[in-house]
Amino acid sequence: MSTTRELIELSERRSAHNYHPLPVVVREALGAWVTDVEGTRYLDCLAGYSSLNFGHGNPEILKAAQDQLQRLTLTSRAFFHDRFADFCQGLADLCGKDMVLPMNTGAEAVETAIKVARKWGYDVKGVTPGRANIVVMEDNFHGRTTTIVSFSTDPDARDGFGPATPGFTIVKYGSAEAIREAIDADTVAVLIEPIQGEAGVLVPPAGYLAQVREICTENNVLLIADEIQSGLGRTGDTFACDHDGVVPDMYVLGKALGGGVVPVSAVVADAGVLGVIKPGQHGSTFGGNPLACAVGSAVIGLLRTGEYQARAKELGAVLHERLRALIGPADQGGHGVIAVRGRGLWAGVDVDPSIGTGREVCEALMRRGVLAKDTHGSTIRLAPPLVVSEEDLNWAVDQLAAVLSELSQSVSRISTSSS
Ligand SMILES: *Cc1c(COP(=O)(O)O)cnc(C)c1O
Repeated sequence: MSTTRELIELSERRSAHNYHPLPVVVREALGAWVTDVEGTRYLDCLAGYSSLNFGHGNPEILKAAQDQLQRLTLTSRAFFHDRFADFCQGLADLCGKDMVLPMNTGAEAVETAIKVARKWGYDVKGVTPGRANIVVMEDNFHGRTTTIVSFSTDPDARDGFGPATPGFTIVKYGSAEAIREAIDADTVAVLIEPIQGEAGVLVPPAGYLAQVREICTENNVLLIADEIQSGLGRTGDTFACDHDGVVPDMYVLGKALGGGVVPVSAVVADAGVLGVIKPGQHGSTFGGNPLACAVGSAVIGLLRTGEYQARAKELGAVLHERLRALIGPADQGGHGVIAVRGRGLWAGVDVDPSIGTGREVCEALMRRGVLAKDTHGSTIRLAPPLVVSEEDLNWAVDQLAAVLSELSQSVSRISTSSS
């Protein structure tokens, strides 16, 4: 059997370096826990960026996948198959919408939403052909295609991949006024994450989403909610928009919709919106395949019980209370945490950069058996599977507290010895 180091070296030599993974090589997993090739166990506090909301190896999802694997896996959309109707109806009902357009990855679903919004703008709103624009937010993350990175404000994501696709207006996240000002006669949609995940789990000000909804309605502009990471139970509601009582015109879903088994994404909207797409105008060889629909239907079944949303809400309250107790400088009883944001089982923890980078904190957490991921320098994001036990969740926060204490002690040792 290869060792961790050998597997990492070979991976680095033979794959593009588009990621900078933590030095752990995972071999198996169950629930909220993963085991590496050396047999060491870790609590998964990333959950595949919320793709694993229902846990690793969720028995109901696995059973649906295994049954389907034996029977039928792919037809293409050239034919109907017997799992398609149930999946589309289930997902449309979960969203309170008329219909579904299934794709595979999140970025494909965002691309689909952009195409649908433009087409709707020309066919329904009456925008001059070629003139449609879409209002998007600073610090957004919607995926990695050339069009999507065209309106990213993250230089790593955007620079070097031009020319940029035109037709997007970038405004400050959290300011409804900025959206109102950016909208003109050619605006077809506002594309927004109800909570910005990759940006560091940024929750917009109270009332903001409701205002955005109002502005879109007043201006005959579609509100597109990218709920790829925030949706499907993570925040304690089925959708992050639910918390604000907001219903978008289009839901963009992905990640957890595939149950951690296969990529499944979708755009969900009413017939007046999705109906603008006619045969031949959009498609995907794999979108809506039988295996994806079987897994997606199992996921929808789990969400219908409300059990996962309730867990995220209850355990999220525990998580946030415990994390907030870490706020404050180490010499004043805190743990060097500057801010904690998020909702439900989803948190962005800003660590004082003077005690260490986010990467250093995550490496130290890994050595203590917790897998988490940093973002934007000094933010740690925590998003364990919603099946995590309260005991394990508390243990993970204990490890974070211990790591921060260790790091700030070594910082104060260094500053004492150098003074
Ligand atoms: C992950 C993510 C995407 C992109 O999904 P992929 O499956 O990686 O293409 C888009 N939007 C949001 C909010 C995401 O978190």
